[in-house]
Amino acid sequence: MAKKINIAIDGYSSSGKSSLAKAIAKEYDMKYIDTGAMYRSITYFLLENSVDSFNFETSNDKINELIKNCNIEYSYDVESSMSKTILNGKMCDDEIRKKSVSEFVSIVSKSKKIRDFMIKKQKQIAFDKNVVMDGRDIGTVVIKNAELKFFVYADLYVRAKRRFKQQNDESQTLDDIIENLKFRDNHDSQRLNSPLKKAKDSIVINNTNINFEELKRQVFTIIKKNCFENHN
Ligand code: C5P
Repeated sequence: MAKKINIAIDGYSSSGKSSLAKAIAKEYDMKYIDTGAMYRSITYFLLENSVDSFNFETSNDKINELIKNCNIEYSYDVESSMSKTILNGKMCDDEIRKKSVSEFVSIVSKSKKIRDFMIKKQKQIAFDKNVVMDGRDIGTVVIKNAELKFFVYADLYVRAKRRFKQQNDESQTLDDIIENLKFRDNHDSQRLNSPLKKAKDSIVINNTNINFEELKRQVFTIIKKNCFENHN
């Protein structure tokens, strides 16, 4: 590697950001952080403590107390392609992908208190560089000075079909997934606190009609050209 850099990847739900970020981590020996998994974990933690979409707005004090006892760690092993999301010492990778979490996470992610808590953690992780991080506000808020920023998008139906194939919660139909993606896109891009938007200096990638090999080819070419002149 020529020099230590950070790469920020933002985009809509199921646009292919995470698969792309994992491939970058493997190719360039970087640390991958899935910030969506972090927001999902805190959402799961709230649900486990009886905070849900019906009482979320009125549970401020309770949420403030709960956050103090919420420790989230995320790691990804490039060799085994395994993510580990640990909430207060317990792995929760399966739980955070459940429908109940997907339906509530965009509501939870609007909260300034929760975003401040997450952003602080994520900035600390990125401080030492060599990180590829994906989410909604990485290039605009968390790693504003990232050496390279990508904004990935794909048509709603294509994203829903990809999510449907990958899911491990069989209770969700394709229509459920389409509705959930629309709901989250809308909440994530309309919210007041660090909404999903393209950073001015990010490179836009349209992942609608290309396969994964082509996505990697396009992105690796850009990375090599911009950051790793000496990378073979
Ligand atoms: O990436 P994923 O789809 O798993 O993210 C789940 C949710 O977490 C998003 O829909 C969004 O509400 C929230 N999120 C966020 N900011 C990030 C990453 C995820 O608000 N940086």
